[in-house]
Amino acid sequence: MEGTREECLCAGGNVLVFACSGGSNVGQISNQAAIALEEAGLGRFFCLAGIGGNLPDMVEPAREAEKRILIDGCPVSCGKATFARAGLKADCYVVVTQLGIKKRHEFAFADEEVEKVVAEVKEILSKTE
Ligand code: SF4
Repeated sequence: MEGTREECLCAGGNVLVFACSGGSNVGQISNQAAIALEEAGLGRFFCLAGIGGNLPDMVEPAREAEKRILIDGCPVSCGKATFARAGLKADCYVVVTQLGIKKRHEFAFADEEVEKVVAEVKEILSKTE
């Protein structure tokens, strides 16, 4: 049951969500999806910039997390590259443009686009439990 699964993940308490939050519609969709995932109790939105900056107080919790959800806006894969430099691996990885959402250099997006990303994350998580 959907609700039960979300409670279960929440109970884990140490699922971190990262988003590229880039300067485009898909970057902003990744950011909003991370917020939506936290609001749904599926994880805690964490700062990808802190990982990029190699800050120990950010990298260590990320390393010790039970699961890491990473959302990139497009195939440039800034989040994935940032993780790689820090020696981190995403347990759930989503690229927004791979869900049929075209990248545009603007910031407007639709709620349905964010919901599509959230649904994809839930689908992947359901297979990795
Ligand atoms: S992954 Fe794409 S959208 Fe995200 S920050 Fe990099 S270039 Fe921008």
